Amino acid sequence: MLTDRRVADSLSTMPKSPASKSKGLDHVALAILDLLRTNPAGLDIEEIKAGLTYGGTHTHVDRRLRSLRKYYDIPGKRHGGRFIYILGEQKTGETDSGAVSGKLRAQVLGLAKGRCQMCGKTIAEDGIKLQVDHKVPQDWGGLTVLENLWAICLDCNNGKQAHFASYDQDEMTALLKIESVHLRIATFLKMHINEDVDSNMIEFVANAKERQEDWQKRLRDLRYPVIGLKISTGRYQTPQGFTRSTYRLENWRDLPHDHRQLIRAWEKKVNRPALTAKLGLKNVQP
Ligand SMILES: [Zn+2]
Repeated sequence: MLTDRRVADSLSTMPKSPASKSKGLDHVALAILDLLRTNPAGLDIEEIKAGLTYGGTHTHVDRRLRSLRKYYDIPGKRHGGRFIYILGEQKTGETDSGAVSGKLRAQVLGLAKGRCQMCGKTIAEDGIKLQVDHKVPQDWGGLTVLENLWAICLDCNNGKQAHFASYDQDEMTALLKIESVHLRIATFLKMHINEDVDSNMIEFVANAKERQEDWQKRLRDLRYPVIGLKISTGRYQTPQGFTRSTYRLENWRDLPHDHRQLIRAWEKKVNRPALTAKLGLKNVQP
């Protein structure tokens, strides 16, 4: 267990820490860095919270771990029933600082044409202010490139940040690395099996790697008997009176490696009897 004395010591040595030169690391992040340094076997989030003398909520610690990850590898791993964080190597060389250059900002705002790219409100009619935001957060592996930037209003940005903070960074980083859009959507739904998932989040996951012209189609593909996921739909009203759709995964089975080919084959009706017989599919409408 950490003593207050050790934390006080680590705080007093902070200014000499190499990372203190790194912009964007506040004193809480630096205190967490020193906690991890003095505990090379790793700490779970409760231990980190306990090590911060001035207290700190889960969200605060999470955010600082994310900011530290711009400068250090901090792998998280399950250890018994705990999820622990271990301080790894300091990152070297050119890293994407996340700073958006003036030229890039102008390009993004030019494409937005005065309209929030999330909710559609405009500067002219609704008096909103636009902010340039990373679609896929940097902490989840998103890059500072035109394709991953958009202009959204303050309300949308705040709502997005709050919602995204509820996801696990490691889980999302791993998810967004999956190449197949079908597998990416399916894996995301599996993370929330038997829960209603907002269509906005599925759209986000679908588009995370490349723009999908029709992400709903990719979702419907997963219901084909050759894939066999049961996905039900729902609707709800937002407090502002907008109708949103939700999707709920009700069963799971691993996607076959050749799922793309199977989906394409199933789309030709002529192939269906043979596929039904070959894969032993049941309850299939002819
Ligand atoms: Zn908006």
